[in-house]
Amino acid sequence: MSATPQDEVSTSISATPQVEGASVDDEELGKTKTGDFKMLIKKDLQYLVGNIEKLPDSARKLFNEAKLYLMAESSDSSTKEGFVSLSTHVNTVLGSSQTDSKNPSSKESLFTPLKKSAPLYYAQTYIQWKSAQDLRDLYGICLPKRKTIYLQPIDEFPDFINTFRLKTHHLNLNFFETLQGFCQIFFSGFEVLVRPPLSLEGGGWSVRSRYHESTKTKQYCVNDFYPLLQKALPADGFCIAGIIWTDIFPEDYNFVLGEASVKHQAAVVSFGRFEPLGFDSDSHSDVNTIDGIVMWKLFKSLSHELCHLFGLEHCTFFLCAMNESSSVSDAMSHPLFLCPVCLRKLQHVCGFDVLERYQQLKQFLSTVVSQLEHTSQLEEALAWLDLCVGYLNS
Ligand SMILES: [Zn+2]
Ligand SMILES: [Zn+2]
Repeated sequence: MSATPQDEVSTSISATPQVEGASVDDEELGKTKTGDFKMLIKKDLQYLVGNIEKLPDSARKLFNEAKLYLMAESSDSSTKEGFVSLSTHVNTVLGSSQTDSKNPSSKESLFTPLKKSAPLYYAQTYIQWKSAQDLRDLYGICLPKRKTIYLQPIDEFPDFINTFRLKTHHLNLNFFETLQGFCQIFFSGFEVLVRPPLSLEGGGWSVRSRYHESTKTKQYCVNDFYPLLQKALPADGFCIAGIIWTDIFPEDYNFVLGEASVKHQAAVVSFGRFEPLGFDSDSHSDVNTIDGIVMWKLFKSLSHELCHLFGLEHCTFFLCAMNESSSVSDAMSHPLFLCPVCLRKLQHVCGFDVLERYQQLKQFLSTVVSQLEHTSQLEEALAWLDLCVGYLNS
């Protein structure tokens, strides 16, 4: 999906912004160099995550970490004191003797800021995202609030998908219910439901297909699914994500792991095969078991595409689940979780408790890790959640 900022969003933020809840007193600016810096940080932080004063302590603590992005480019390290709480904490937890209090972007931080490439008002900050959402809500003012995300299995799946089971304390989840379980926590506040599988042949769906030059296997054109999924979306549905085994391609491209259309409130992810770009017919094998690698890919691509349907553009602030990717391996190397700026957007619309959501994610991923093989990426995500929950509880 395009990450280009929408014109109406950019222009709604003027060069001298009036930020929601901001109480910047001009006279205070310029009193001291440190005061200046702190005031600018405070103002820019409100661009990034909005007014967080009324949120619970743990949420404020997390969203405050957006400061790391604002601090990363500062050349004056003497003014950074007071903004390194997270780095210090993580180092304490890890027992590291290399506490780098002057470098909040050091790798021990929970969030790694990206280099600033454009002024803040060109990127999709929380404030810009919210203006676009408010406009969208205004158009839909007479419509009932839709708070259900639908997962739509499409077409046939191999037997090992159909027989997959994940045991939780009380439940025995099948493959799609496992994806539902993850999304239910990721998007806490919304309900996530799995629809009965749709047959492409029997359902009379007309979707373009072709055989990929290298892989010689069938691919469907992802663009053709959007209007069909939109039609399949129940009346209480906020959005719908199709899940398909067969490869998909966007018009004019080779292959895509997943894609979303905000216009249709629909997304599609495919998971039978990955990376035809580096396809080697001698060594290649399609996915033939559900292990931690496949689950990681699905959790990542599904939550990324669904976030697009919540209006989130690609993230340019931190290493984040919403980073743009140019290949499957690129996409898979990004974090499973959102940065403070992207999480603030999702938290606003879903209304979840930040700490509770992280704790539930931790519990759910522990269950997944305990029952699957090849779980190193999921284990790294769990270690991250451990640090994060520890920090928010401290
Ligand atoms: Zn994307
Ligand atoms: Zn982000």
